[in-house]
Amino acid sequence: MDLTALPRRRYTDGPTPLQHLERLSAELGGPEIWVKRDDLLGLALGGNKTRKLEFLVADALARGADCLVTAGGVQSNHCRLTLAASRVEGLACHLVLEEDLGADGAAVPDGNPPEDTGNRFLFDLLGAETVEVHPHGADLGARMEEIARELEAAGARPYVIPIGGSNALGALGYVDAADELLRQVDEAGLEVDEIVTPSGSAGMQAGLVAGLHAAGSGIDVVGINVSRSREEQEPKIAALAREVTQLLGLPEVPREKVVGLGDFVGPGYALPTPGMVEALRLFARTEGLVLDPVYTGKAAAGLAARIRSGELGPGQTVVLVHSGGVPGLFARTAAFA
Ligand SMILES: *Cc1c(COP(=O)(O)O)cnc(C)c1O
Repeated sequence: MDLTALPRRRYTDGPTPLQHLERLSAELGGPEIWVKRDDLLGLALGGNKTRKLEFLVADALARGADCLVTAGGVQSNHCRLTLAASRVEGLACHLVLEEDLGADGAAVPDGNPPEDTGNRFLFDLLGAETVEVHPHGADLGARMEEIARELEAAGARPYVIPIGGSNALGALGYVDAADELLRQVDEAGLEVDEIVTPSGSAGMQAGLVAGLHAAGSGIDVVGINVSRSREEQEPKIAALAREVTQLLGLPEVPREKVVGLGDFVGPGYALPTPGMVEALRLFARTEGLVLDPVYTGKAAAGLAARIRSGELGPGQTVVLVHSGGVPGLFARTAAFA
């Protein structure tokens, strides 16, 4: 899908690497595992939101915005990268954060004090104009709109970016990533059966499935949900994919191409699971590759479990998307004690 006519900023030089994890593949004794290194995307410490922000920030600039407003969890990678983009563009940036819910209802169990670690530390280092923290369950969307109205009343021109950058415009980053990946797969002479990706606010997966389908690729995308059940997540992915295909005039993605497995969430969003801890150790010790505890760690736990159950096996090839998030690991080291 040619997106060159659309306004876009560039935050990464060239494609991210597609790497073969030979030792991990041998260790698990199943399919050949490759990894798409979107943790190496541009902006402060990288991650998948960088691709979305290329289109979202271009839209903000085209509309004459002078500040960005966005929201996420207390350790939001999306907030870090939006803030980093705002520094690159000379914009102000306002962040609205929501506390994680504990398995027992308490805030951040198994976490380090959140104020001074991981992404929270980086919000300060990168100099966010404002950072608000709200209790779990707060209406972040409503609060962002309120902040935008206050900023307008003070003469500013705010641009609100939804949680995770997950609207049709943001998902364009992964329509483009689908083409980038297909070129690399082709160059490497691979027959890929499946792409495994974490699935959160669903923009990454919606863009990927829309882009793959438009390119005529039959590769399956299996999302591993990080916060929702399968019944809740798949309609979200499908609805966003439909918005993307309508925006670009692409063929609609067949419903069976939308898969978001809910079996690896554990007690809830950002809460550690034994499978996540095991997957981080496995990838680190076999490949020297560091995953994150909230997204890629759960996706890798899902991949390993499906290989061990025989659902994926020798002779197949899978690509895991490493979507970033590693700064958040430093807020979760207590889960590895
Ligand atoms: C946001 C995020 C995801 C999930 O992407 P969505 O588009 O929200 O589904 C995955 N990995 C990391 C590291 C993220 O920050």
